Amino acid sequence: MRRSVLPRCRTGRVLPRVGSSAATSQDRLAIDTREDRGSYVVILRLRLTRRIRVGRLGVVSFLDGWHLYAGSAMACLSARIGRHLRRRKKLHWHIDYLRERADEVAAFPMPSSRRRECELAGALAKIFPAGPQGFGCSDCACPTHLYHSADDPRRLRAFHLLLERFRAEPPITFTQGRRPGLRRE
Ligand SMILES: [Zn+2]
Repeated sequence: MRRSVLPRCRTGRVLPRVGSSAATSQDRLAIDTREDRGSYVVILRLRLTRRIRVGRLGVVSFLDGWHLYAGSAMACLSARIGRHLRRRKKLHWHIDYLRERADEVAAFPMPSSRRRECELAGALAKIFPAGPQGFGCSDCACPTHLYHSADDPRRLRAFHLLLERFRAEPPITFTQGRRPGLRRE
């Protein structure tokens, strides 16, 4: 296997590409990190209503309270979440602009071999009112990937049930005695 084709996490670990054949003994560390993928919710608190410039989306009004963002990283999930938690960085995604002004932030990873961020956004939409149109969903057909809650979502039973449901799926299955592979849905 040519290592040059492997994506590399910020942690310096090497991950096999999705669909790549295999794993040699020297890739053992890489295999261990293959579970590091899936979806997540980031919650961000604004103590005051704010108008924030969000890249190409322009200036957007955000209510005070809590904003919930649905995202996914099909490699290096931990590194992605670490990035969302940091305030200082090059602003790239819509959520980076909101993070820069947020007073508090917390993240909830949901490891999975499937990309479930749109499904997650749909589940949030059943509990919370939608945030700005077009936020965080440039690559899909969802109206938004950001939702609003006047109260801390961590105090809401419906939010806990959502986390439980999305975390109940076994992250990635390995067949004993064979090369590890992605579970096919
Ligand atoms: Zn979507």
